[in-house]
Amino acid sequence: MSALDLARDLATGLLSLLAPRTCAACLAALPPRATFGREWALVLCPPCRRGVEPIGAACPACGAPRPPFSDPAPRCRSCRGRPLGEVAGTVALLRYRGPARRLLHRVKYGGRDDACAPLGRALGRRVVEALGPLDPALVVVPVPLHLLRRWARGFNQAERVAEAAAEVLDRPLVPALARRRRTRPLFGVRREARDAVVAGAFRARRALGGRPVLLVDDIRTSGATLRAAAAALAAAGAGAVTAAVVAR
Ligand SMILES: [Zn+2]
Ligand SMILES: [Zn+2]
Repeated sequence: MSALDLARDLATGLLSLLAPRTCAACLAALPPRATFGREWALVLCPPCRRGVEPIGAACPACGAPRPPFSDPAPRCRSCRGRPLGEVAGTVALLRYRGPARRLLHRVKYGGRDDACAPLGRALGRRVVEALGPLDPALVVVPVPLHLLRRWARGFNQAERVAEAAAEVLDRPLVPALARRRRTRPLFGVRREARDAVVAGAFRARRALGGRPVLLVDDIRTSGATLRAAAAALAAAGAGAVTAAVVAR
């Protein structure tokens, strides 16, 4: 952590003591501290909390929820036959809709990066629940933003989430990837065309020497970004790459 980061964190900490706390999804005033239950209870009001849908039983390939015992096939109907690339599996914490969608939007564009740590801790616990004991050599790698975008936003939400998840998992956070070029937002791009838009967008900054990777991002939609990032990790010698996302 640089001195600048430290100063900023201190300033935000002080501000949060003075400013009234609001829900990170709907901006309603929050009751004073002391909340119980799940980690995201710290940043959400009671109605939004109730509206968040945690993912339980899920497809191991894409992380999509599915009813338990419904289908013996290893992959769910929505991702069967679609490319996985170097992504060995996906774990997701929440459904990307309702308050969770508004929450992640505010994290990205509304300065609510205070939600990253609680979400990251919850994601870490979800990873253990879904995958069981982790390989001791595993490293946690965030999906990077392009430098210009990171600079404009002041932080990378995936990095903040990954940091908290790595702490829960007791594995090192390794910023092993960089964005080679800016890519246009995938919103509105046809699903089949997305891989082509992000292909080659990442490069590895270091060799991974066979270590398995937990690749962390905030949202998975088509999975194209995760596949492009995993391809760069595989090229740098990573072992199995498992994706972990806050929502999908
Ligand atoms: Zn709310
Ligand atoms: Zn699936």
